[in-house]
Amino acid sequence: MEEVMLSALQHFVFCPRQCALIHVEQVWAENEFTARGQQHHDRAHGGGTEERGGVRTLRALPLVSRQHGLAGVGDVVELLPDGSPRPVEYKSGRARPRLADEVQLCAQALCLEEMFGVSIPEGFIYHAASHKRRVVAFTPALRQAVLDARDGVRDLLRRQTLPPPAADDRCLHCSLLESCEPFAAREFPRGFDPFSTTLEDP
Ligand code: SF4
Repeated sequence: MEEVMLSALQHFVFCPRQCALIHVEQVWAENEFTARGQQHHDRAHGGGTEERGGVRTLRALPLVSRQHGLAGVGDVVELLPDGSPRPVEYKSGRARPRLADEVQLCAQALCLEEMFGVSIPEGFIYHAASHKRRVVAFTPALRQAVLDARDGVRDLLRRQTLPPPAADDRCLHCSLLESCEPFAAREFPRGFDPFSTTLEDP
């Protein structure tokens, strides 16, 4: 069966409708957050390797797991002095735990475990806005969340239908707000305009 893209897992966990808009309907839009995120991503994906303090850094590493049916590219993979890999995902926002990001990182670890033949207990999410690096433990529950998201994406791609909109706080951080129109069917109190709500950095 065809591999599921690592980025699709992140989109699916954030919002299944977002995943369908991007991966079924091929809609893509850019807001200030995705633009900023892309800059950090481009920097991380610049390719090449470097070594510091015995830790080797690989950038833009192609990743695949035949066993779990996953594929994509790792922002940054660090090789510890003993040669074991740790995935590092770059995010533009402040340090804030988000399951969608952790699922994406853990999916990278599943690929690396198969590629390197090792077990990987943890990885890191680097939040550029706060210059903080957060440790994410790859617990059994998180590993299962990756596989559940993979199955969800496969189901979505098979059905080729658009799930109902979330129409909640997630939409205020979503680059697809305008094309999705999540609030179109909602009735709001007089004077309330969801599109005028102040956006927060995700
Ligand atoms: S605007 Fe809301 S419902 Fe639509 S894709 Fe984004 S998060 Fe999902």
